[in-house]
Amino acid sequence: MNAKQKMRHVLDIIADMFPDAHCELNHGNPFELTIAVLLSAQCTDETVNKVTATLFQKYKRPEDYLNVPLEELEQDIRRIGLFRSKASNIQKLCRIVIDKYDGAVPESHEGLTELPGVGRKTANVVMSNAFGVPAIAVDTHVDRVSKRLGFAKETDSVLEVEKKLMKLVPREEWTLTHHRLIFFGRYHCKAQSPQCPICPLLDLCKEGKLRMKPGFKTKNKSMKPKIANEG
Ligand code: SF4
Repeated sequence: MNAKQKMRHVLDIIADMFPDAHCELNHGNPFELTIAVLLSAQCTDETVNKVTATLFQKYKRPEDYLNVPLEELEQDIRRIGLFRSKASNIQKLCRIVIDKYDGAVPESHEGLTELPGVGRKTANVVMSNAFGVPAIAVDTHVDRVSKRLGFAKETDSVLEVEKKLMKLVPREEWTLTHHRLIFFGRYHCKAQSPQCPICPLLDLCKEGKLRMKPGFKTKNKSMKPKIANEG
């Protein structure tokens, strides 16, 4: 089985396992999604959703975030890791969105990554979920699962993983694959306790076979989370 055939098999299996995989960050528009993804670095989606449930009631437009002192916004997101720098980035982002984009989040990858606190992963999530442009955002789950399944090397950067996945996955399936790999990593191939004994991919997974050997110790590098968002 070559790499593309192996990927096809994996895509079909995870589609069966998680047919309804979707973005778990609650949002009502592209601007709210951008704020939610920015907040999700080093924080679970669950916590972000708890915070945005009230945050998005109070702050509806970019202007609203600029009409309060930074300290007030910090307090409103204080349950989230790195809340001070995130609050600062949100206000800077809102200033740019108002001044340069007439109050709307830019609909281009380049425009998004120019915003403070918005990296390649966030831009990919916004482009794919808010604007329907196919993209594979590589978060901690996508990175770990891709490496465990042998689609990327342990030493590959996030960008290298993304490029390898884009070559192997048909473009029209990029966005859905991103969601399904996240669900697969979040609920099945977990960082600390992957469900190898009941995994339908065990036959083609070196990591899983290694883990099934008697006396396996958690010494593998892929056990260690490397990317911020552990949601
Ligand atoms: S066999 Fe184990 S490590 Fe491999 S994909 Fe399945 S759960 Fe993950």
